Amino acid sequence: MKILKDRMCVVCGRKFDVKLEKGNVIPIQYFFSKELGKALTGKKTEYWECEYCSGYMKERVIEWMNINWGSRCPDFEENCALCRAWKCFDYLFEID
Ligand SMILES: [Zn+2]
Ligand SMILES: [Zn+2]
Repeated sequence: MKILKDRMCVVCGRKFDVKLEKGNVIPIQYFFSKELGKALTGKKTEYWECEYCSGYMKERVIEWMNINWGSRCPDFEENCALCRAWKCFDYLFEID
């Protein structure tokens, strides 16, 4: 499996290694764009945001939830599996 070393997050400056997934796919928690890097600096450069800064993580998880669980019920029911799944989701992201 390929690893991209020492990529830097443009938002927080944190350095990280990116472990690519099968078929050299960048894991969903990172935001990466070649085009954006070029647009911002005028040079060919990689633009990375780490998993904490990307904000994409939440969006992707919402997508995942909708595909795997379905959209939220209108009212919360303690004994509904779907409601409990969404409650876990809220808990995961409640910091922001
Ligand atoms: Zn970051
Ligand atoms: Zn429900």
